[in-house]
Amino acid sequence: MGAMKQRIYRNGAILTMAQSSQEATAFSMFHDRFTAVGPESDVVPSSDSDTEVVDLGGKAVMPGFIESHNHMSVYAMNMLQADCSLAGNRTIEDVKETLRAMVSRTKPGDWIRGYGFDETLIADKRHLTRDDLDEVAPENPVFIFHITVHFCYVNSPALAMAGITKDTPQPEGGEIATDDEGRPTGLLMEPGAMNLVGDIIPPYTVDQLKSVLPRAMEHFHSFGITGIHDGGIGYFRHGRQILQAYQELERERSLSLRVYMTVVEEIYGTLFREGMRGRFGSPLLRLGSVKLWQDGSIQGYTGALKEPYYSRPDHLGELLIPQERLNEIVTKYHAADCQVAIHANGDRAIESVLDAFEYACHVCPRTDRRHMIIHCQTASDEQIERMKRLGIIPNYFVNHVYYWGDRHRDIFLGPERAGRIDPLASSLRRGLSFCLHSDLPVTPVDPMFSIHTAVNRMTSDGHVLGPEERVSVLEALKAYTVNAAYAGFDEDERGTIEPGKLADFIVLSKNPLTVPHEEIKDIEVLETVVGGRTVYSRIPRIPGTPRIPGTQY
Ligand SMILES: [Zn+2]
Repeated sequence: MGAMKQRIYRNGAILTMAQSSQEATAFSMFHDRFTAVGPESDVVPSSDSDTEVVDLGGKAVMPGFIESHNHMSVYAMNMLQADCSLAGNRTIEDVKETLRAMVSRTKPGDWIRGYGFDETLIADKRHLTRDDLDEVAPENPVFIFHITVHFCYVNSPALAMAGITKDTPQPEGGEIATDDEGRPTGLLMEPGAMNLVGDIIPPYTVDQLKSVLPRAMEHFHSFGITGIHDGGIGYFRHGRQILQAYQELERERSLSLRVYMTVVEEIYGTLFREGMRGRFGSPLLRLGSVKLWQDGSIQGYTGALKEPYYSRPDHLGELLIPQERLNEIVTKYHAADCQVAIHANGDRAIESVLDAFEYACHVCPRTDRRHMIIHCQTASDEQIERMKRLGIIPNYFVNHVYYWGDRHRDIFLGPERAGRIDPLASSLRRGLSFCLHSDLPVTPVDPMFSIHTAVNRMTSDGHVLGPEERVSVLEALKAYTVNAAYAGFDEDERGTIEPGKLADFIVLSKNPLTVPHEEIKDIEVLETVVGGRTVYSRIPRIPGTPRIPGTQY
């Protein structure tokens, strides 16, 4: 694309997302940055260079979406594995069929890997067992991830290779599920148990990762995403390979998305000792926060709650890191000017994380660390006030409302607590800004759908869950633009359409601020531009003319 040419987009509805609410219908850019935005009279062709003018035909333009918590590298690796999700399987028999196809293409003895199994939605409503997997793959070790990535399923050859028997003691930070006779069922819970098998699987190579990451980026661009926080690089290994794959793609000019790398402590700690700090890197690839986990997921009964689960009055879920240890880790990075992002779903886990942040701020009273709570699903008003006071950013997984809201109400949390999961409006009422995310591959990545869910709070069964927590379209859009840029210390470079900022933007089929709320999810992304370069385009072509992205709407 003529990147060195001035380009003007005119005759559009420009949602700049900037503080000044000046009506804008046009903007210009040169090379990779915006140069002007405003009414048409303010955006004039430059006299000393060629200018390409694009007529938007009234279409809306806004800053590119920044998806601030997902696992794109895991999504990419999944392309090398068997899809055991609801996408292609209704029953366990279907899953077996999917695996049989994979086995037929695999040498005996080689690993069969899969992902996406969800026992709560599959017709059989039960976990996979080693016997299911032995039936289809007696001669291959099998490892299948649960949709939450907090559980996995393995077969007898895999258990044998890992040396797991009925006499194996329960590992720290995980559980080997057993039947009445104490025999492992094949279900392994949380990293402590999953790693017993995971650690013996040969990791994917950098070249394998580089073969699938570009397809993953294309997928993201098609939903208007120009930047991501890759949310836990190294969770379940491959940390070094992923870092290297991203670096090589950048060097080869094949990285078309801005990646802020959130890294597990094991790897972050090593980088740290090598002298790297957060925000190290380039405008395309940057080392971001250190990622920790303080509980699991509520729909897996591993979220740590203050009050028992609705359907299990004896069960609260567990904290993963003892408080003193968490205080220590958080303080270490806080004192060294690093951002910390901690996974917490249950209100007891959120409380523990806030205690750790408060401790760190007390020991080392510095501000502007922008620590984040990832998911932050059941935050109370009191906790929201603490976040506001400590400068913590809640990053809400709002898709929970759609995908698990009905079951949260009926099974896991009960009607009262379910109604206020992802308390977006409560946060705004207390002056606390938030980010939103998809947690791909846990739910599909589609910012417009997540924005729709934040605005409507519609569940998959068609109920409105907690209507008082609905927010305006503008606030939901901010979560995916300005707020997400701020969460990556990038608010001077991205998140709004303003002169001097990087030209990351999207063209939409309709204006989200003016369509009826129930139609937000149907808005289509027509073009995605990263640093002035069109990386995705679905502009209809006039027959017989060459396709030039971005020249006609
Ligand atoms: Zn995640």
